[in-house]
Amino acid sequence: NVDWQGTHVTVAGLGVSGIPAARALHERGALVTVVNDGDDERSRAQAAGLEALGVTVRLGDGDTLPESTELVVTAPGWKPGKPLFQAAARAGVPVWGDVELAWRLRGPDAAPWLAVTGTNGKTTTVRMLASILEAAGLRTAAVGNIGVSLLDAVLGEETYDVLAVELSSYQLHWAPSLRAHSAAVLNLAPDHLDWHGSMDAYAADKGRIYEGNSVACVYNAQDPATEHLVREADVEEGCRAIGFTLSTPGPSQLGVVDGILVDRAFVANRQKQAQELAQVGDVDPPAPHNIANALAAAALARAFGVEPAAVRDGLRSFRPDPHRIEHVADVAGVSYVDDSKATNTHAAEASLAAYEPIVWIAGGLAKGATFDELVTGAAKRLRGAVLMGADRALIREALARHAPEVPVLDLDRTDTGAMSEAVREAARLARPGDTVLLAPACASMDMFVNYNKRGEAFADAVRELAGESA
Ligand code: ADP
Repeated sequence: NVDWQGTHVTVAGLGVSGIPAARALHERGALVTVVNDGDDERSRAQAAGLEALGVTVRLGDGDTLPESTELVVTAPGWKPGKPLFQAAARAGVPVWGDVELAWRLRGPDAAPWLAVTGTNGKTTTVRMLASILEAAGLRTAAVGNIGVSLLDAVLGEETYDVLAVELSSYQLHWAPSLRAHSAAVLNLAPDHLDWHGSMDAYAADKGRIYEGNSVACVYNAQDPATEHLVREADVEEGCRAIGFTLSTPGPSQLGVVDGILVDRAFVANRQKQAQELAQVGDVDPPAPHNIANALAAAALARAFGVEPAAVRDGLRSFRPDPHRIEHVADVAGVSYVDDSKATNTHAAEASLAAYEPIVWIAGGLAKGATFDELVTGAAKRLRGAVLMGADRALIREALARHAPEVPVLDLDRTDTGAMSEAVREAARLARPGDTVLLAPACASMDMFVNYNKRGEAFADAVRELAGESA
């Protein structure tokens, strides 16, 4: 435990994690300097608020390490290669992220953490987990990368029995001493490689989540990369590796048998082969990737001692967040589904696998991705495709290579209004019984502020269409 009195701490970045970090450290007697790249109106207002408390703020200078710095606390998104961190490394100064800080500042009786990471499915799994823990009567919250600051959860008034924690690869990179009760890596596919530098570095940061686990390391038995991370991890004695699979589970696994989610890992009665947890139909939506999320959540809850009935009740009361395979409406016998959150190919693959036949609306910013594998896998299910956004040509070319028979409409547009045209064109291509699926496989920022706005534009366009056909 650190005595903060008089410690020189540099907080890197104003904003959602920096401001609470600066406040918390200042309250504990640290001498806090905040450094920030930007010097705009918003940062000046934020700076004024901190300066009034006695915190020093340097705007427009996020790369100079203040002299006498003993510790840097950084916003998770700051790239490891930034000159500030190079200077810290040269000076032998440790760097913590927001998660590390929350971990270090938590009280002696703090709630244990059940942690989740992975390329896709984190938010959904953490919400399912929180729902299960609540159904078990535990005081809990879904926190972390999900948009609820860990620092607030750890330092706030509320007391918890256990926390359901979503962690991004960035946050894990900067969290060297975090030790979860149990943790899960849902899947591993290339993403954010520009930040991490390489797939190996990305995987290594994700794998940090298993370090020092005390009860269970939960991995995806159908994604060998996640199992590999468990094998590499240094865990506490007695900590078990628990797999989840969409097929029949082996010993120490959770899986699916005849439409039922079953547990062979935490079976109380030794005579019993498998413990029934829930029906596939209890999970919303019951798509394969989402059953995998449910199994991961169930594994973490079971590791914490939650009874099977609470797993079932928690899954039944769970509802997905908006824009994640969200059914918007049926119009003229065609179902319209919003998966705007499918911002990479791995995510889009999951929703494209869940429907057939599909009129696919896609495109946006590709972030360096290639689309051959995605298109090859989905080709047989596609009735047609409607493309828009900055990198649509990459998808068009992949479709031409691997699915030449699928009709493709290139809208040649990158303006916000393109969504309404896309939905109309998709409606023209679709036949009754089809699904029109927005699963862009790309980021949204070329056309929209974020994926929420993109999904809302889709839903608006569908409602417009429904109004006309009514
Ligand atoms: P994250 O928090 O990791 O971004 P979300 O739960 O918000 O994940 O889901 C994001 C998108 O990823 C969903 O819209 C869906 O398309 C896809 N997805 C969700 N779970 C999985 C999974 N287990 N495997 C692959 N794709 C998934």
